[in-house]
Amino acid sequence: MKTIYDYSFNDLETLFLEKGMKKYRAAQLFSWLYRKRVSDFAAMSDLSKDTIAFLSENYEMDPLTLKDRQISRDGTTKFLFQLKDGSLVESVLMHFDYGKSLCVTSQVGCNMGCRFCASGLLKKQRDCTSGEMVGQVMAVQKMLDEQGERLSHVVVMGTGEPFDNYEAVMRFCRTINDDRGLAIGARHITISTCGVVPKIAEFAKEKVQYNLAISLHAPTDELRDQLMPINHAYPLEVLMEALREYQATNNRKLTFEYILLKGVNDSEMHARQLARLLRGMNAYVNLIPYNPVDEHGFQTSEDFVTLHFYDILMKNHVKCTLRQKHGEDIDAACGQLRAKYERG
Ligand code: SAH
Repeated sequence: MKTIYDYSFNDLETLFLEKGMKKYRAAQLFSWLYRKRVSDFAAMSDLSKDTIAFLSENYEMDPLTLKDRQISRDGTTKFLFQLKDGSLVESVLMHFDYGKSLCVTSQVGCNMGCRFCASGLLKKQRDCTSGEMVGQVMAVQKMLDEQGERLSHVVVMGTGEPFDNYEAVMRFCRTINDDRGLAIGARHITISTCGVVPKIAEFAKEKVQYNLAISLHAPTDELRDQLMPINHAYPLEVLMEALREYQATNNRKLTFEYILLKGVNDSEMHARQLARLLRGMNAYVNLIPYNPVDEHGFQTSEDFVTLHFYDILMKNHVKCTLRQKHGEDIDAACGQLRAKYERG
């Protein structure tokens, strides 16, 4: 059975019209789902009996169940959800000064094969539907409701490559962004890609203000080829050209994510190469301390190396920030998601 979360507002209007029902039912339903956040169609008291019957017979609501929850020392919470077909996905809730942010998973497993990342250790089993991504947000928002708290930010940075599941991710963003529902501001939604160039071009044409983050991790093709297989398909020149076009269309600031790997991409030379690559762009670099993944053998750069790297970028007029680690002790940090779970 399909989850009703698979439908954006417009999809619901179309659905009701097609079924010969009133279009305004979409607004009522959307409000029950995303504002009042009820978990049962029968509780939607202003819907007609027929509408409730139609919904309950054809749709379910929550497409996932909570299997486990781990809370780290810093309050970061990792949720393990089971989808209807038994697949497991994880989402991570982070607490910032500016609000609460949920890191959402877009695929069960991942095929991108980045050498340093745990999420790709499980090959892609399938894409998540938009409803399954909305379901992650709704499950966490419903828990936050108990404390009178609200999710203010969403990052599509969990397991999976969002631009390898483009349509569903866009529908997901539309649904959570809609003013008539959760109303998570477009500027509070970030999509992170390892560099699927054709989709960057498509994304540039979307009339939306979502943020785009690029997982870069290396300033030259030689090195990026070794770390990220996607670079064979879309080398840096092609990637940078797509990003320049993206910015020419919509003028949005870009984020580049750069994990510092000890002795691999963290030298002064790499910093200078990176500065040269990004010179003049409306962008900033988010330097990410590497979170160790047992199977991969990379190490975290030392603090003084990290700071030196940061200094060189700043001196070369590339803005950058150092990412704080979240939830490292519970394997909820970047690149550590892998749905580790023993059954039974
Ligand atoms: N596929 C998308 C979405 C995943 S985002 C992308 O690549 O952008 C996950 C982010 O965490 C990416 O920037 C990724 O490169 C980074 N990451 C992966 N493994 C990591 C690790 N072990 N330590 C720190 N960051 C990691």
